[in-house]
Amino acid sequence: MKYDYLVVGSGLYGAIFAHEAKVHGKTVLVVDKRPNIAGNIYTENIEGINVHKYGAHIFHTNDKKVWKYITQFAEFNRFTNSPVANYKGELYSLPFNMYTFNKMWGVVTPEEAVAKIEEQRSEITGEPKNLEEQAISLVGRDIYEKLIKGYTEKQWGRDCKELPAFIIKRLPVRLTFDNNYFNALYQGIPVGGYTKMIERLLEDIEVRLDTDYLEQKAELDALADKVVYTGPIDAYFDYKLGTLEYRSVRFENELLDKPNFQGNAAVNYTDRETPWTRIIEHKWFEFGKDENGNDLPKTIISREYSSEWKPGDEPYYPVNDEKNGALYAAYRKLADAEEKVIFGGRLGEYKYYDMDQVIAAVLEKCENVFGL
Ligand code: FAD
Repeated sequence: MKYDYLVVGSGLYGAIFAHEAKVHGKTVLVVDKRPNIAGNIYTENIEGINVHKYGAHIFHTNDKKVWKYITQFAEFNRFTNSPVANYKGELYSLPFNMYTFNKMWGVVTPEEAVAKIEEQRSEITGEPKNLEEQAISLVGRDIYEKLIKGYTEKQWGRDCKELPAFIIKRLPVRLTFDNNYFNALYQGIPVGGYTKMIERLLEDIEVRLDTDYLEQKAELDALADKVVYTGPIDAYFDYKLGTLEYRSVRFENELLDKPNFQGNAAVNYTDRETPWTRIIEHKWFEFGKDENGNDLPKTIISREYSSEWKPGDEPYYPVNDEKNGALYAAYRKLADAEEKVIFGGRLGEYKYYDMDQVIAAVLEKCENVFGL
């Protein structure tokens, strides 16, 4: 059988492309090297809890078209991301808002909060020389010391005084009692998990798992007229120009025989001493209930650690610096010359994409290819 399209990768990009190809009367084969579909939004149901295996994923968008599209394949719950910061046992609301300022300084009105922030910001005069000075010049020392310093140093593995100021351009401050982190028009988690949503996209499409395209490229290429490749762009070209770098995260998962560990989906540990940056308690993405609405007796937590990425590790966040930007541009040139292949998604385009941005990008590609 010769297919119109071979789609490499069953993540959000690949699954939507495959779905649209099928809708437009094309034949499609999807391959993925992992033993499961859904790429990095894969959720696995363990003890009734949908565990976000590759990191917590919260869907949020202001794009009506994207929302309309994706809600055909899943019903979304009303989850709103409201993370909490834990600084040596003191809990603060995030993002910085009136609850945070009240806890930090006992201030009650927005005027009092502004006055306090202004007083502390004035510590820095002149151009900030490093990330520490930049953060203090934006929100003052107390917020910097308790909520920014330790977390940032763990993320970057370096002292804030040694990090450049430009890493932080803005630090949003809300003078309202509003813990809604994303503040997006549409937000939520697909009921039943992301994997189910991808299953629906891939309904009636042939999928071969545990199949590494690059290991069997010639045979698989022979099966299709065109290829949609959503794996790492440098791997496609056998790293011949060099290896693109990523920032990595390590997850340590634990099943606990108790119903509630931290009472919230995400708690950021903002001190320097705690080795992890965050703990995710997965059940709270779905309000602690199983699919029948029953309270779940156990809980699963994931401690997240920032870690140095080495070739061969799971690629997470592309590194936005000059060196990697130039290397990607060189690979992009090679990719543009591959007439049979479309490179897409976070790895194919070496780009940090939120889920809604991936959906917008693949729908635009489909419009070009299929004339939606
Ligand atoms: P992927 O999901 O990575 O899919 C690529 C697929 O290709 C994988 O299944 C892989 O196995 C397969 N593949 C690769 N190479 C080969 C090969 N040689 N042969 C066969 N198959 C191959 N977005 C949000 O909107 N909200 C969030 O809260 C959020 N949280 C995130 C947290 C983390 C830690 C990270 C890293 C990202 C987060 N994102 C979030 C972004 C989100 O993960 C991406 O937008 C989305 O997963 C991208 O989908 P994709 O299809 O491009 O890539």
